[in-house]
Amino acid sequence: MSTSRSSNSLINNSYDNSHLFMSRKNYNSEFEYIKCKCDLVAPCQEAWREGTLDSGRRFFGCSQFKDPSKRCNFFVWADPPYPERTREVIQYLKQKLRAKNEELERAMAELSFMEKKMLVLNEECVSLRCKNAEAEAVGKSYAEAGAMLQKENKSYSRKKLLVIVVIAWIIFSLFK
Ligand SMILES: [Zn+2]
Repeated sequence: MSTSRSSNSLINNSYDNSHLFMSRKNYNSEFEYIKCKCDLVAPCQEAWREGTLDSGRRFFGCSQFKDPSKRCNFFVWADPPYPERTREVIQYLKQKLRAKNEELERAMAELSFMEKKMLVLNEECVSLRCKNAEAEAVGKSYAEAGAMLQKENKSYSRKKLLVIVVIAWIIFSLFK
């Protein structure tokens, strides 16, 4: 407990020296005892803010940092600063990731455009199917009317033939 207290007093004395960082050993053993000037446990976080050179570098900060009226601006790094080469690699990877994200966004926009187009085409297809079914129904009724007409025509021809035969028989009987 005495070591944690001494560690706290060390950190509290240098709370605004952001270039300071805690050694790995201290980070592991003293984590729960690090408090900010507000006498609250300072949680260990990772730096992922846009523009930071040391992405993922851990630090201890005031837990009330979101509230400007309460925060004490306590800040101390948990990890040492990254070597120059590591920073370069991180920047390169971030750029690559950004380009990939942009590519993905473009692809998503294209996909959404295609989906909308597909919906319109589907609606058109449904309406065309409806029209096709209507046309088929009309065609069927025409075919039925045609068949009925043909039937009537046949029976009319038969009647006409019968009348001719009867007239011919009457004429034949008169001149016999
Ligand atoms: Zn604080």
